[in-house]
Amino acid sequence: MTTDTEFIPGAYAPATAEPLDKIEPTPVAEIADIVERAAKAQPDWAAKTLKERQKLLNEAAQRVLERAEEIADIVSMETGKSVNEVLLNEVAGIGEYAKVAAKEARQVLKPSKVSISSVAYPGKRAVVEAVPRGVVGIIAPWNYPLSIFFKPLFPALLSGNAVVLKPSEYTPRTGQWLADRFGEVIGEDLVGVVQGGGDVGAAFVESGIDAVTFTGSVPTGKKVAARAAELLIPASVELGGKDAAIVLADCDMERTLAGIAQWSLHNCGQNCGAIERVYVEEDIADEFVRRLGALAEHIRVHPTGDHCEIGPLQNPEQRAIVEDHVQQAIEEGATLVAGGEPCGDGLGYRPTVLDHCTEDMKVMSEETFGPVIAVARVADVDEAVRRANDSPYGLNGSVWTTDIRRGEGIARRLDVGIALVNNHAIPGSMANIPWTGTKDTGTGIAASRYSYPTFVRRRTLFVDKSKKPDPWWFPFDENSRELANSLIDFSRGSLMAGLGMAGVARRRVDAIRKWVGSTKSSE
Ligand code: NDP
Repeated sequence: MTTDTEFIPGAYAPATAEPLDKIEPTPVAEIADIVERAAKAQPDWAAKTLKERQKLLNEAAQRVLERAEEIADIVSMETGKSVNEVLLNEVAGIGEYAKVAAKEARQVLKPSKVSISSVAYPGKRAVVEAVPRGVVGIIAPWNYPLSIFFKPLFPALLSGNAVVLKPSEYTPRTGQWLADRFGEVIGEDLVGVVQGGGDVGAAFVESGIDAVTFTGSVPTGKKVAARAAELLIPASVELGGKDAAIVLADCDMERTLAGIAQWSLHNCGQNCGAIERVYVEEDIADEFVRRLGALAEHIRVHPTGDHCEIGPLQNPEQRAIVEDHVQQAIEEGATLVAGGEPCGDGLGYRPTVLDHCTEDMKVMSEETFGPVIAVARVADVDEAVRRANDSPYGLNGSVWTTDIRRGEGIARRLDVGIALVNNHAIPGSMANIPWTGTKDTGTGIAASRYSYPTFVRRRTLFVDKSKKPDPWWFPFDENSRELANSLIDFSRGSLMAGLGMAGVARRRVDAIRKWVGSTKSSE
């Protein structure tokens, strides 16, 4: 396939360029019905205990694992990744993910008792509860068409919501398959699906959903966030990246090279958390670049069957971007160390290493989303940190060094959501670490207990067991001033306790307790 071939998203296999059966988009007029069916099914689901929901979701995850090969074949067909890669990077983690997500849910969803001063507010108690939003819309991209759903799917369902998935039109079958497995166990209306492109996505946001999580590009994410703000529904947006790695002269060269190659090239670089820029200290740059180039040349690329480590790019637009970025970098003076050309029948592209890159090159400033490592040589750490932070994105940033403590200090200077030492983007597969960024990467938090504001609202249940009217209720009378002064005194007493004057504070509390207890009888 060439990038000029007429192309219908989702209707061809990227690895072989074979046509696939067309998946019909959901008619826009039917989207609201799917959401309504989910809304009707949701209250019964929410009425179950967390333990019951967890048990059913574990069963659904179990079904995915039982049919691992089947879904791996579908993902492989739709994306071009090898079955091995899909099994390892998209399927295998679901069991652990479900387990850890449930552990997080137990923490976040448990009602929290509010501590209320029995002196200032006698007879009162309050508890803050987590209430599911209703129907959560989950809009996903094509790069990890299965596992990207896990981040919102588990917390949303564990909290008692129904969900409706909107897979990318490039990978419609994977999203449908996942929804079917969950639907078989918990009820098909609770896990709806809408299929189609941008028009369907836009209509979906309008369709009556109560919250939306969006993973995708910056321009679309901004549109979704703006519309959600108008509709006053919570939106969590996880957008693009241009991650940097800083390689220090004292790094463990062997492991650093393996780590950089892994996190740049894995998934053919189509990873929001891919290392796209490497800032390496000048002292080790020659050796680092030479060995990184050799490593890239030895990676088994599409088409080399099941053991192929890197599949093709997923779609022709993506390959056109990669080709454009690489060509422009070379024209602007970058040195091509490895790769730099297509391979295979489909949309393959060789792992590429470029040296002497500068920020005016697209490979350093725009998201490439392909198997391209842009290397820049730096004089010292300060230059590396300044240049790493000079990006519109801020997802992951990593520092590679044998001096861990120094590495932590440098990592903290990176303007990113996930700062790492000697690894990169690995928290993306963990259910209890927030996946989040800064700047154009978006404000969303995916995964972990910190993601729950999208899935639950907080409701306060406040109960008053007092037999008398509160002392500050109407009517004001001759005692009101005395009460006000006593309360002010009490406040001062509380602050004194905080300042280490507990004895004085206690005497004031005793006095006000006596006073409040003796006034405003309801009889
Ligand atoms: P897009 O923004 O093009 O699409 C994302 C999803 O939104 C797709 O399902 C798409 O449908 C849908 N969509 C398109 N238009 C609208 C609209 N107006 N309203 C609502 N939904 C709409 O992104 P890509 O699919 O191209 O994904 C690649 C991008 O995703 C990269 O920028 C990458 O960095 C980012 N990404 C970010 C991650 C993160 O966690 N930060 C993780 C993974 C990827 P359709 O595809 O059918 O057009």
